[in-house]
Amino acid sequence: MKTIGLIGGMSWESTVVYYQLLNRLTREQCGGLHSAQLLLWSFDFATIEALQASNNWPAATEEMIRAARRLEQGGAQCIVICTNTMHKMAKEVSDSVTIPLIHIADATASAIKAANVKKPLLLATRYTMEQDFYKGHLESKHDIHVSIPDESERTIVHDIIYDELCQGVIKDTSRRKYQNIVQRAVDSGADGVIFGCTEVGLLLSANDVPVTSFDTTLLHAGAALKFAI
Ligand code: GLU
Repeated sequence: MKTIGLIGGMSWESTVVYYQLLNRLTREQCGGLHSAQLLLWSFDFATIEALQASNNWPAATEEMIRAARRLEQGGAQCIVICTNTMHKMAKEVSDSVTIPLIHIADATASAIKAANVKKPLLLATRYTMEQDFYKGHLESKHDIHVSIPDESERTIVHDIIYDELCQGVIKDTSRRKYQNIVQRAVDSGADGVIFGCTEVGLLLSANDVPVTSFDTTLLHAGAALKFAI
């Protein structure tokens, strides 16, 4: 089994899910006492969030590159960035190491295609919903066109991620807010929903939405394991 290098802590609430999933899936596939061979670099998320919020993406990219190099030097055989948002600098990170980067949007795209979903809604941080690095990757590489919530809904989705989910706070009222946003998109023709932030699965499950959902954390962990085993 190959060693998976995780860049996590963004937030640790979802890194925990990656850790559990990778180990559970390894046990399911390999049996007995088998568990995943992992290296984890876990950031202090307050530092990263401050760089994001102040638009200091160059410094954030430097942090990410340093983490990836540390993992490679430690023996990791692939890099897994445990957040959608920080795939903004996926190319720079990938270019800075010699081991492959398992891209979260590629894992998600495969599942969307397999489910024959044509117009998924993207629920994510403001950065992921509004900037081009994620939607553009899905479009140019996979010909998948996503819709995003409107401005006021994007604020709700973004704030719940940072003020609640990344701090381990799960509220029924917030779940209902997400469900209303999904319902409005479905009424306008969305036929799927991407949980495009690794914490969204802490609030919403497949049963909470009326269309097929794509939980990027589950899909990404699955893709990493496929590479490793
Ligand atoms: N984990 C989240 C994501 O998947 C948001 C936190 C972050 O900015 O990394 O985008």
